[in-house]
Amino acid sequence: MPSFKAPRGTRDILPAERATWGRLERTAADLAARYGYREIETPLIEQTEVFERGVGEVTDVVEKELFRIAPRTEEAESWSLRPEPTAGIVRAYVQHGMQTWPQPVKLTLVGPMFRYDRPQAGRYRQFWQFDVEVIGDPGPAVDAELVELGLRFYRDVGLEGVEVLLNSIGDAACRPAFIGELTDYFRVHVDRLPPLERERLERNPLRLLDSREPVMQELNALAPKISNLLCEACAAHFAEVRAHLDALGVGYRREPALVRGLDYYTRTAFEFYRRGAEGQQQALGGGGRYDGLVELLGGKPTPGIGFGIGLDRVVLALESSGVAAEPEPHPVAVVVGADPDGTVDRLRIATRLREAGLAARAELGRRKLGKQLEAAAKEHAHFAVILGDELGDGQVQVKDLEAGTQRLVALADLARELARAHGAHRHGPDETEGRPS
Ligand code: AMP
Repeated sequence: MPSFKAPRGTRDILPAERATWGRLERTAADLAARYGYREIETPLIEQTEVFERGVGEVTDVVEKELFRIAPRTEEAESWSLRPEPTAGIVRAYVQHGMQTWPQPVKLTLVGPMFRYDRPQAGRYRQFWQFDVEVIGDPGPAVDAELVELGLRFYRDVGLEGVEVLLNSIGDAACRPAFIGELTDYFRVHVDRLPPLERERLERNPLRLLDSREPVMQELNALAPKISNLLCEACAAHFAEVRAHLDALGVGYRREPALVRGLDYYTRTAFEFYRRGAEGQQQALGGGGRYDGLVELLGGKPTPGIGFGIGLDRVVLALESSGVAAEPEPHPVAVVVGADPDGTVDRLRIATRLREAGLAARAELGRRKLGKQLEAAAKEHAHFAVILGDELGDGQVQVKDLEAGTQRLVALADLARELARAHGAHRHGPDETEGRPS
């Protein structure tokens, strides 16, 4: 028999771990709603050109990492799996005429992204992002609001010690001079450049700055910094972003070498790291301003800013910092009975309990009552509802599996009785689960 496995760089998230993901998604959705973001979904595939134009043709993400879908003969278009969400969201903004909506348009999504990358811990070919985008606001105040939201997300999910590295990477006015200096600098060291970097030196020298080649780390450390070459407008914008962060009491670290790997960024750029883990190229999230992107994708000139937080890495960081996995929900009741042919009664009663809003499972197999009770205890059900002879009188035995007590309850009162007893237990003085509410 063949033995099938999830494709390299992808993985299954099994139920015990998925519960933590659910918690992150709920935190993301709650926070995004509180900050005024509206939910959007865009397709996992886009026309390849959306990414080529949006992300930039001469970037790792497009040149090396794009999952291209082999074109079908009956379709002329070339598609790719999305490597990041911003280009697709901006494509949707333009397509649906969102520039006529009240500005700015604030959008959020959580979903999978795909990059054909070399897999390793924290680097996958399918990974998830919590993404927010603000389109139609030139900042600088909203830039600070976004950074504050990102940091709050990490705090709310229980991850301590996350800091933000902040930079401004200029705009169309000041970047040409910077690119000129950069090109001059790398030309001096051209002999040390790896082949791809050497080729990129002529096509997109900015991308040398986020190269992951070891020799480039050294060269980049001494490369010219955009922060010294910002035009007056960009410098003033950056100063205002920082002033707003200061006023909010949000700490940040200026990182003049931060550039971000995608072409569409302008001005504010930031990345989130765990303190002390900056060198490992394992950002927990990143974002920035993209004032030229809407226009690049066919809309009117419109500023924008957003971030993507990598949920896979947040889960890894929570695990490594000892934050307990989110417990899976347990059933309130399991309906069991000694009669192997009693599945109709068990299913009917479980169905009624679910109708009343309770998590209930019915034993639908033919195993012995003792085994049924064992299974119920193992899955941490609070109660076993045991069907026996009393059923003829409209009554059932209710066994509290946590307290070990048992009593007769009228069927007519069962749902109400279980809800009351379960609620009293959960919210009572001996609450032990300690879950965040
Ligand atoms: P980027 O737009 O490349 O900065 O990605 C934003 C965030 O997504 C990063 O900071 C990571 O947390 C996460 N991320 C990017 N690529 C991967 C990957 N291959 N595997 C897991 N997470 C990733």
